[in-house]
Amino acid sequence: MSAGRLTLAMQKKGRLAEGGFDLLKQSGVKLAYARDELMRRAENLPLDVMLIRDDDIPSFVASGACGCGIVGENVLAEAASRSARVAGLEIVQRLGFARCTLKLAAPVNGPVQNVADLEGRAIATSYPALTAKFLKDRGISAEIVEMGGSVEVAPRMNIADAICDLVSTGATLEANGLAAFETVLESEAVLIANPAALNGAAATLDLLVERFRGVIASRQTKYILLNAPKDRLDEIRAVLPGADAPTVAPVVGRDDVVAIHAVCTEEVFWSTLEKLKAAGGRSILVLPIEKMMA
Ligand code: ATP
Ligand code: MG
Repeated sequence: MSAGRLTLAMQKKGRLAEGGFDLLKQSGVKLAYARDELMRRAENLPLDVMLIRDDDIPSFVASGACGCGIVGENVLAEAASRSARVAGLEIVQRLGFARCTLKLAAPVNGPVQNVADLEGRAIATSYPALTAKFLKDRGISAEIVEMGGSVEVAPRMNIADAICDLVSTGATLEANGLAAFETVLESEAVLIANPAALNGAAATLDLLVERFRGVIASRQTKYILLNAPKDRLDEIRAVLPGADAPTVAPVVGRDDVVAIHAVCTEEVFWSTLEKLKAAGGRSILVLPIEKMMA
């Protein structure tokens, strides 16, 4: 990598890539088009994005080929249990997307219904180190069958009695007649960095982290506008989620009504609006916040 420029390792294609490109875009990073697409240069920051398979991201960062990377905690944890260098990497920021869970599952109504039933059985997984560690912690001895993908077919093909695989909605498990019975790891995308490999680009990493935090904060923050009876202000304030200092302004021609503007830092549900309405709120608007800086 070139001196002074930050290299960010990111998945080339897939679930992490999607969220990663969105995050960069919302953070104001403009990537130049590159023909081979292995390396894309940012036009407006000293940043280069290296596009690789997600499995390779921890070792690219640990080796110093990239100063930082966006990867799923599942892949990071698996790689960390095989390599001390990966285990030494820092999670700089949790990114809140690509959420999924590594779960143990087995055929519905089959002989494996819980963790104890795994004793002496075979478990298919793409996460052998995490699965082995989980079993060891529970004092279970079982055979681990490593598979690169399509793990959910293993029980049906009599390759294994159970699987340890990523689940988000559970639809794949259900379609294959499997039921999850235990969580091994909760995962989301994280930004990892190797402080020794920043090569003069620490300030760029700090700037990127600050922008990522702003994007993440603005995603869960909403701006609420409503009119409310003056005498029910306290009631309304109690309902607004995570809004500490709303602006209260007069409404022309109405002595009994005020306009309330508030930044809500917690999720605004339909039920929140219903409560606001029940407390006399009217003309309620919820707007997204595009950018935020504390
Ligand atoms: P690659 O070619 O880069 O190796 P892949 O097939 O391993 O791609 P994806 O299926 O895109 O990768 O998943 C990448 C990461 O996204 C996973 O490691 C995990 O962190 C996260 N992920 C996996 N499954 C889901 C899911 N169902 N919902 C949300 N995030 C998921
Ligand atoms: Mg992969």
